[in-house]
Amino acid sequence: MAYRRQPNYGNQYGGQGYGGGRRRGGGQFKMMLIIAACFAAFSLFKYYSGGQYNEVLGEKQYVGGIEPEQEIALGLQSAPAMVQQHGGLHPSAEGQEFVKRVGRRLVENSIARETKYQYDFHLLADPNAVNAFALPGGQTFITYALFEKLESEDQLAGVIGHEIGHVIARHGAERMAKQSLTQGLTGAAVIMAGDYSTAQAAQMIGNLVNMSYGREQELESDEIGVRLMSSAGYDPHALKGVMEILEKASGGSRQPEFNSTHPSPENRIERIDEAIQKWHR
Ligand SMILES: [Zn+2]
Repeated sequence: MAYRRQPNYGNQYGGQGYGGGRRRGGGQFKMMLIIAACFAAFSLFKYYSGGQYNEVLGEKQYVGGIEPEQEIALGLQSAPAMVQQHGGLHPSAEGQEFVKRVGRRLVENSIARETKYQYDFHLLADPNAVNAFALPGGQTFITYALFEKLESEDQLAGVIGHEIGHVIARHGAERMAKQSLTQGLTGAAVIMAGDYSTAQAAQMIGNLVNMSYGREQELESDEIGVRLMSSAGYDPHALKGVMEILEKASGGSRQPEFNSTHPSPENRIERIDEAIQKWHR
């Protein structure tokens, strides 16, 4: 499921315009190289000049010049496709309301309030994939398969708090910026020009969700999750129970976002304990 930019790139800049039926001479080849080098320089420049200070977390991060408004727009555009992939929203109005209530309590009583993201929380019908995820900009989802395994409201707050952590720490934007840098230029052009189409946005976000976050990003989200839970009056120890539930669930063929490659659960629980000591009063 790699992001496929080659065909576009060919159509826009190569194939028809320059190549046509004629053979490329040395001059033309040189020109192509120069153009490619310019694009490469541009994406490097864009990446390193696009560093932004995350005021909520107090750290600098490379998000390729992507603004929170763009994150919100991308998330809202791709939400319907994500919902569809998971069998739609769960029909229970009570279930939806419960998920929203816990999400709102976390946002309204924590640092999440200081961000401009448009948080919303949804229960997906999917009875098989034990998963939760957040799109850039604040749209947050949990599948029924995970929801039904949870033992308490605090655990649900743990799941949602972790996902809000990805939003606040702008992990999606960080990933998009890296993807643009390393994989190239259509991605960069599309994101930076801000004229992405819905289809392109959905494809990019789909990619993003299917890719697991890095180890450090997961640990950071755990820590933010603990922080949010604590300030919203939830018991952050419950997040450890969530880890155990996810660990058990990953015994099957499904790979929860949470659990996929990285930190071993013991290590992760240790780090959660450290976060609790740091943030829980
Ligand atoms: Zn995560």
